[in-house]
Amino acid sequence: MSMFATEYKYCPQCGHSLQNTEVAGRVRENCPSCSFVHWGEFSLGVGGVVWRGDKVLLVQRAYNPGKGMWTIPGGYVDQNERIEDAIAREIHEETGILAEPASIMALRDRPGAKHDAYIVFLMRDLGGTLQAEPSEVSDIGFFTLEEYRQLKIAALSLSVIEASNSVNQGLSLKTGVQLIGELAILYSVR
Ligand SMILES: [Zn+2]
Repeated sequence: MSMFATEYKYCPQCGHSLQNTEVAGRVRENCPSCSFVHWGEFSLGVGGVVWRGDKVLLVQRAYNPGKGMWTIPGGYVDQNERIEDAIAREIHEETGILAEPASIMALRDRPGAKHDAYIVFLMRDLGGTLQAEPSEVSDIGFFTLEEYRQLKIAALSLSVIEASNSVNQGLSLKTGVQLIGELAILYSVR
C-alpha cells in the first residue's frame, strides 16, 4: 500500500515496470530503466494578509472545501512561478487589489497522501479597486476588526490577521545573496 495519493505501476517517464527498492534510506517506487523516483506528491498554496488602513481584505469562498467561509485571498503556486509572484497574482485575480509581499508570516505544513504546504505573506497594499472574480469568490471586501469578527471566518485566516496586528516582522526578502536557480529568492530573519 502506497503512502501516496497516486500509485504508479509503470514509470511515468519511460513506461518500464517500477520496482520497490531502497533509495536514499527508504523503500521507494523507482524505475530500473531510467532515473525516475516517486519522491511523493506536494502542493504549494499561498495566502496574503492585506491591510488598507484599519481594514483587512477578505474573500468568501465560492466552492468547496469551505464554501461560504471567509478567508484571506490566495491560491496555488504554478510550477514555474516564484511564490511571491503567485500570491500577488492570486490576490489580483480574486479581488482586483494590487499588493506585494512585505514578509512571510506563517507556514502551515500538512503531510498526507498529498503533502500540502501553505505559506502566508504579510502584503503591502499597492492600490487598485475591489473587483470580485465570480468563478473563485462569491464576495470580497475590506473589513474592520469589529466587522470581520462577525463573519464566518476560517480559523487560520483569523489567526494570521490578528497576529499581523501585533507588528510581526516575520521573514523578509533578502537581496545580494547568490543563489542557484534563475527564479530563486531568499526570505530570512534579517
Ligand atoms: Zn523509467
